[in-house]
Amino acid sequence: MAKSKEAWISEGEAAFYKTYNRFPVVFERGEGLHLYDTDGTEYLDFYAGIAVNALGYGDPEYTECVKEQAEKLLHISNYFYNTPSVEAGEKLTAAAQMDKVFFTNSGTEAVEGAIKIARRYAYNKDGGHDHEIIAMKNSFHGRSIGALSVTGNDHYQEPFKPLLSGIKFAQFNDLDSVKALFNEKTCAVIMETVQGEGGIYPARKEFIEGVRALCDEHDALLILDEIQCGMGRTGHMFAWQHYGVKPDVMTVAKALGNGVPIGAFLACGKAASAMVPGDHGTTYGGNPFVCAAASKVLDIFQSRDLTAHVTEIGEYLWERLEEVKAEYPAVKAHRGMGLMQGLEFDQPVGPIVTNALLEQKLVLISAGANIIRFIPPLVIEKSHVDEMIVRLKKAIENTR
Ligand SMILES: *Cc1c(COP(=O)(O)O)cnc(C)c1O
Repeated sequence: MAKSKEAWISEGEAAFYKTYNRFPVVFERGEGLHLYDTDGTEYLDFYAGIAVNALGYGDPEYTECVKEQAEKLLHISNYFYNTPSVEAGEKLTAAAQMDKVFFTNSGTEAVEGAIKIARRYAYNKDGGHDHEIIAMKNSFHGRSIGALSVTGNDHYQEPFKPLLSGIKFAQFNDLDSVKALFNEKTCAVIMETVQGEGGIYPARKEFIEGVRALCDEHDALLILDEIQCGMGRTGHMFAWQHYGVKPDVMTVAKALGNGVPIGAFLACGKAASAMVPGDHGTTYGGNPFVCAAASKVLDIFQSRDLTAHVTEIGEYLWERLEEVKAEYPAVKAHRGMGLMQGLEFDQPVGPIVTNALLEQKLVLISAGANIIRFIPPLVIEKSHVDEMIVRLKKAIENTR
């Protein structure tokens, strides 16, 4: 007899270091926009493994590519060239309008690399060790000590202090608060173009333009974290392309590999040569397996014109969520761009998200306590949006 869901869960709890409170669902496989648990129950996915599974599940072209590369060569280290990483590097730098790329294993490591570029860039100028980075309150950049140091969340930071020194926090979308923190020691500003975990807050145009100008004035680097909002999610390949405000350094991960672990930091202009051989490295990063996957993902974005699709379906999702907002007084705000949208409620949304998953078989995710985040696979169709709305309304009604 097949092992029961309960057995999988209790064995998992016995083995795993407890840093997550998981939902009691054991997923086994996926197909298109749907996930299936060990009982064979079908779920509609508006979560995409936290904005990772851009192509949904089991895309035949992508899957074939990953299989082929697994048979050829998985790993070789960065002391040699490998063909998939060269191809992925060319395609990603072109899509990102950047000069150079470094492949990492995760988003957090991409942020680490970006912080190192900022420190190195400033060190190259004056040899000092007192440079400062301005980050944003309510931000999220990852869980390693460096990335956590620029993550504006006291709850995440508190038990792990002391963190990196020289980090100051401004208020996102408040240019004066950034200006007030700038001084001759400032080497970089780091922020998400659209804050994801913090609750789906897009940068205002005047804000991001103003930060760019301040960075230019002080010869500091603008680092945009596009790990969640990048890779087509907002309807442009990268969210900063909406604003025409180009960063010096940017980070990418999540959807880049469509499920294989790959991230990247990219740099242009003066930032592109700040680090030199010996300054940074990784064993797995950019190996042939993950780069073949990323290279295929980038091809598919082009061949299927996915950003246009995101814009079209994103507008439809916007309309349908506006209806939900109009219908339920508990919904206080609706924000976002493309297929990265959030509904803010007047109370914590945990019960709605749980009801959606367990009763309506709709996979959703919160962002902050009161916000439901909609970050589906980018290949969704309008019919999936319609189905999601039906289930979402039931979940809201059942938890009132
Ligand atoms: C998810 C995320 C990260 C961290 O990426 P990991 O792959 O989990 O290390 C960093 N920044 C942003 C904006 C993210 O959404």
